[in-house]
Amino acid sequence: MIPRFKPRLGYRELAALFRFQPGAVAAFETAFARAFGGGYALAFPYGRSALWAFFKAIGLYGAEIVQPAYTCSVVAHATVLSGNVPRFVDLRLPTYNMDLDQVRAAINPNTGAVISTHLFGYPLDVDNLSKIVREAEARFSRKIWIIQDCAHAFAAEWRERSVVAAGDVALFGLNISKMITSIFGGMLYTTDADLAHRLRTFRDATFKRPGYLKRMKRVGYFLAVYPAFAERVHGLVHWLQEETPLLNRLTKAYHLDEKIAFPPDYLESLCPCEAEVGLVQLSRYSEIVRQRRQHAQYYDVHLPRPRGWELPPLFEGATYSHYVVRVPDREAVIKALGRHGVQLGRLIEYSVPHTAPYRSFADGQRFPLALKCSETTINLPVYAGLSSVARERAVKAIESFAHDGLPGRAAA
Ligand SMILES: *Cc1c(COP(=O)(O)O)cnc(C)c1O
Repeated sequence: MIPRFKPRLGYRELAALFRFQPGAVAAFETAFARAFGGGYALAFPYGRSALWAFFKAIGLYGAEIVQPAYTCSVVAHATVLSGNVPRFVDLRLPTYNMDLDQVRAAINPNTGAVISTHLFGYPLDVDNLSKIVREAEARFSRKIWIIQDCAHAFAAEWRERSVVAAGDVALFGLNISKMITSIFGGMLYTTDADLAHRLRTFRDATFKRPGYLKRMKRVGYFLAVYPAFAERVHGLVHWLQEETPLLNRLTKAYHLDEKIAFPPDYLESLCPCEAEVGLVQLSRYSEIVRQRRQHAQYYDVHLPRPRGWELPPLFEGATYSHYVVRVPDREAVIKALGRHGVQLGRLIEYSVPHTAPYRSFADGQRFPLALKCSETTINLPVYAGLSSVARERAVKAIESFAHDGLPGRAAA
């Protein structure tokens, strides 16, 4: 089974887990800052903890935070749990990022920040966004923070400049499904020394040292996922996931989409063993992005385009954290490809303002594209380390799906 995603992990990560060097977290921050532009980086146990801490540290409370309707739900959770209010904006195709005309219309005197998400690795037009925010700041005489959500994109480039430094702060997620991983973990990055100091002071006063139980759990988790991504074992994992409630229950505990809540350890700092893994991963970053771009180009040339399928665009500066295709009958496609040994993802399968806890925040607005994407997207494997044989097999599987017809053909 070709997995839908696979972290690029080698023996070096395994060895790093047991290194026990003092100052690993600080070393990870320093290396991370150097890799993404030379500013300041601050580590957190999760990306969501980092975003929450940012709002708390700058004292933003009771403000509207403009953000995508179509993104990971933890962004909205961090907004609400920090005492702020999400203000959702629909996306624009083909790149899935927020419609900036709607961002302009959403900003009002109560807006405290805009979350500029580079979804699926597609860079948002950060120049235009800055202009919109600067104009609004002048009109409403208040500071409006720009947060670059780089959890998917990492250093995607808009007009050849990294999006990481285009706002006040950048947010990264480092869990096992991201471009690079520190097991779990999140990072804030800024080039502003005063802001970095404020964030660090708040963090050090608020976050506890990770307990030994947490450290052991992290090692255990990593040792469990490490072999799970081997191709042969993955067939079993896929079966457990699709045909039994077991894995869903495990992952749901971490990712409660139906409830505004954080994991119980969200204030326990990143573990040193996680930082050690992250340090090794940083050294692989450029190669990971290079391979993802290559896979996206390959798919763009070789994938058939069955009727009703919308392939993602090739886009200058994109890092392709996901290769997302919209299809008319998602479940049939996933089943058929599964039979050919290709696992597809369904990321992201909800529109945040359409989920139960956020319906009341939708405020009468509609998000038709977010809803449509939540129901029609599949993602193809695009991870670094995907072999050319596996890539070809994915294309062949889609070719035979297209040939056998079924939903696409029936629509014709
Ligand atoms: C993963 C992710 C985050 C951070 O998630 P955590 O799981 O809390 O680390 C933030 N924004 C987006 C868009 C993400 O995909």
